Amino acid sequence: MYAEVVFPFPFRNSFTYRVPGELEDSVQAGVRVVAPFGKRILTGFVISTPETCELPDKIKEIRDVLDKYPIFDENSIKFYQWIADYYLSSLGEALRNCVPAGLDVETKRKIVADTAYCFELYNEEPKKNTIKAQLLQLLSVNEITKMGFLQKTLKKKNIYSALRSLERIGAISIVDELENAKVRIKHIKHVRLAQSKDEIFNNIPLIEKRSPKQVVILLHLVSLKEESVSLAGLLKKTNTNASSVNSLAEKGLVEVFDKEVTRDYKETFEEAKENFTLTPAQQKVITSVTEKINEQKFKPYLLHGVTGSGKTQVYIELVKLALKQEKNALILVPEISLTPQMTTRLLNHFGDEVAVLHSKMSAGERFDSWRSVLSGKSRVVVGARSALFSPLKNLGLIVVDEEHDQSYKNHEMVPKYHARDAAVVLAQMNSCPVILGSATPSIESMYNAENGKYELLELKERVDNAQLPEIKLVNVNIEKKKHRMENIFSKTLLEEIKKRIEKKEGVIILQNRRGFATQVYCEDCGEIQMCSECSVPMVHHISKNILVCHYCGNSMPVPKGCTNCGSLSIKFFGTGTQRVEDELDFYFPEIRMERVDSDALNKKGKLASIFNDFKKGELDLLVGTQIVAKGLDFSKVTLVGVIAAETSLWMPDFRADERTFQLLTQVAGRAGRSKEKGEVIIQTQDHENFVLKKVVMNDYEGMYKREIGMREEMSYPPFARICLIEAKDEKEENVYGAMKDFYQILTRYSNYVTVYPPTEAIIAKIKGQYRYQILVKSSRKTDSGGAVLRKAILDSFIEFNEKSRYRNIKLYFDIDPQNIM
Ligand code: ADP
Ligand code: ZN
Ligand code: ZN
Repeated sequence: MYAEVVFPFPFRNSFTYRVPGELEDSVQAGVRVVAPFGKRILTGFVISTPETCELPDKIKEIRDVLDKYPIFDENSIKFYQWIADYYLSSLGEALRNCVPAGLDVETKRKIVADTAYCFELYNEEPKKNTIKAQLLQLLSVNEITKMGFLQKTLKKKNIYSALRSLERIGAISIVDELENAKVRIKHIKHVRLAQSKDEIFNNIPLIEKRSPKQVVILLHLVSLKEESVSLAGLLKKTNTNASSVNSLAEKGLVEVFDKEVTRDYKETFEEAKENFTLTPAQQKVITSVTEKINEQKFKPYLLHGVTGSGKTQVYIELVKLALKQEKNALILVPEISLTPQMTTRLLNHFGDEVAVLHSKMSAGERFDSWRSVLSGKSRVVVGARSALFSPLKNLGLIVVDEEHDQSYKNHEMVPKYHARDAAVVLAQMNSCPVILGSATPSIESMYNAENGKYELLELKERVDNAQLPEIKLVNVNIEKKKHRMENIFSKTLLEEIKKRIEKKEGVIILQNRRGFATQVYCEDCGEIQMCSECSVPMVHHISKNILVCHYCGNSMPVPKGCTNCGSLSIKFFGTGTQRVEDELDFYFPEIRMERVDSDALNKKGKLASIFNDFKKGELDLLVGTQIVAKGLDFSKVTLVGVIAAETSLWMPDFRADERTFQLLTQVAGRAGRSKEKGEVIIQTQDHENFVLKKVVMNDYEGMYKREIGMREEMSYPPFARICLIEAKDEKEENVYGAMKDFYQILTRYSNYVTVYPPTEAIIAKIKGQYRYQILVKSSRKTDSGGAVLRKAILDSFIEFNEKSRYRNIKLYFDIDPQNIM
C-alpha cells in the first residue's frame, strides 16, 4: 500500500510514500502523517492511498499517523483543491486550514490503559514475544504511558496498529496531546459505582454505623441516571470529602477515573430568548429559500435587508428547516468575537447543537468545538472565515452574514482566500442553498444578483414599525467659520449628546481610524488630492515626502497649494478614538463611557461585558472604530455620531466610496431600533459629497448605480479580476529587483492581462521588511473564470524561479485583494 502526501509548503506536487504493514489499517485519505522529506521529518496530508507505485524501490516509508479519523474527506479535498487553484497556493497550504489553530504541530501520543484488562489479555496471548504481547505486558503495569516510551522500550517504531486494535476492544485509549502543549484534551475526575446496585445495597448495612458519609455517597450514586458524576460535583452535592470517596474506592465499591470533558464555549453576552411571529416580509424570504433547502439544491441568494429588518431571525428559521431535513448548517459572521449578540441568539435557539469557532476562544475551547463538529455532535457551526473549514459534514445550508465585510478576506496567510466567495463554491459542491446577507451588499454581490447569478431577496422595512433614523451631515469647515466647533466636535453633535445622556438614552460615537497613511486635503474646499488616472486618492509617503497612486504608480511632490482652489491650507489628516475619548471626558466629566477598539479589547469577554453594561444602562456612550458599527441591536440607542466621514472616504482604494457607504449606513443603523426615533450626525468636510448624500437618503441603489458605472469605466471588479503580487525583504534592492524581474516576465502576457509596473507598498516597510507590489488585471469579458490571469501568473512564476537572480525572494499572490496596503 502507498500514500500520496502533500505538504504545507509552496511546492505544487504530491509525494508517494510506502505505508508499512503495521500502519496499513490507519493510513487513509484525510489523515495527517509524519514522513521523512529530504533531511527533515514533516507533517503532511494523505490525499489518496494508491495500491501501486511507479518506482517502488526509491520511495521512503511513512513514519507514523497522527489522526485516528480523517480530518477531511474526498469531498472536501475537491474544495481545498479549488481554493488552492483559485488563490494560487499548493494543495498542502490550503489543507493547512482544516487543522484547527494550535493543533497544526505534531501531536504527542499518550496511552491510557485499563491495566487489569491488559494483564488479562496478556495472559491469554499464546506467544509472549509478539509486539502485541510485549505491549500488553507494559500496559498492564503502566496506566499512562507515552508513545515514545513504548517505542523505545520495544525498540519498535510502528506500534500504532497494534495499539489501535487494543483500543478497539477497549483495553486502552489513545490520547493525542500537543507538542507545544497549547491544546489538550481535558480530563476531570469522575466517580461511578464499581459493583451492581444490588451488591451495593448488600454492603450498605456493613458500613452504615461507622461512616454515614460513605452511605450518603453510595445512595447518591445509586440514584443517578448517568453512569458517573464528577468528583467535585459529588462532594458538593453530598457535602462529603474526598477521603470518604477514597475509602469507598479502597473497598472496591466505587471507582474514580479520568473522564474526558469538553470545554463548552460560554458566550458572556446575555440576552433573553425571544420568539416572534415572523413578519410577512420575513416569511416571504423564508418561503423562497425553503424549497431549495428541502430539494437539497444549490442556489445562491443575496438577502438585501435594511438594518433592523430582522435578518438574524430569518437565518434562525432557515437553520431550523435545514436541521429538520437532517442536514447541518454553517453560519459565517465577519468577526465573531465582535458579534456576541449573534452567537447568543443562535445559542438561545440551538443550544448544544451549536459549535462556536473563533479566534478569541482559548485554543482548548476551539479544539473541543472542532472535535465536537468532527464527531457529528454539533450540527450548527457559527464562526468567522476560518469556520469555512470546520469538518462539518452533510451541509444543508450556508449563511454568510454581513457579506460585504472585508474580514472575510484572509490577507494574512497563503492561500489568501475570500470566505464569502469560497462559501458559494462550497455550497455548490454540497448542493445546498447559500444566503449572503447584508444591509449594504458589496458591489460584486449586487452585480451578481442583477445578472441573475444570485437571486435577490429583500427586506425593505424594519420590524415592529421601527423607523430608519434621520441622518444629518454637519460640515465642520462651515461650522468652524461660525465658531461652532470645539476641536473635533461640532456644537451640534455635543448638544445632541448632552440631550440623550440626560434622557438616559444610548449614544454611539464612531471614529474609524483605520488609515495610517495620511491623505492630503484642502481645508478650504475639501478637495482631496486624487490620481488623474485612477480616481483613487493619492497617498502621502512620509519617508520620501511625495504623493503616490497605489494603483498605477503615478507620483508627485506634495503640492504647495490646493490643485482645485489654490488655497494654501493643505492639511494632513488624522484623529484617533483615544483623542475622541479624551475630548468627551473633557466636555462631559460625568459621562459613563467605554472605548471599543482593538487596543481597548485586550481581554477575553471584554466586549461582551461592555455590551452587557451598555444594555443594562450602566454605560451611556460607546466610542469606537468600525467595531461599533457591526450588527449591534440595542433598542436604547437614539444617537449615533460620526466624527469624520473622511477616514474611510479617503482610503487609497477604489472601494473607498463603497466602504464609506457601508460603514456609515451600518453605524447609522444602530440608532432608532425601537419606538424612540433615532438620529445620526455625521461630521464631514464635504457635505455635498455624493456618497454621503446617498447615506443620508438611505439610497443604496443610487450609490450602486454610480459605483458600478465607474467600475466598468475604470475596469475594476466586478468587470476585471485583480491579482496583487507582493514581495518583501529586508533589503530594498532585493525586493525591487525581484519585482522588476517578475514584472518583465509578466509583461509578455500583456496581450491578455494588464500589468502595472512595480510600486512601493503604501506601508512601505513592515517589521523591517520592504514591500513592493505589482497589480495585474484581467477582464471578465475575455477571462470570465480567471484562468488566463492564473496561468499568466503561474507561468511567469515558474520562469521567475528558473531565471531570476532574486528567486529566493518570496512572492505572495493575492487574488481579488480587498486591501492593498
Ligand atoms: P438586522 O440583522 O436585520 O439588522 P436584527 O436581526 O438584529 O436585524 O433584528 C432587529 C430586531 O428585531 C432584533 O431585536 C430582533 O430580535 C427583532 N425581531 C426580529 N424579527 C422579529 C419579528 N418577526 N417580530 C418582532 N421583532 C423581531
Ligand atoms: Zn481647495
Ligand atoms: Zn493612479
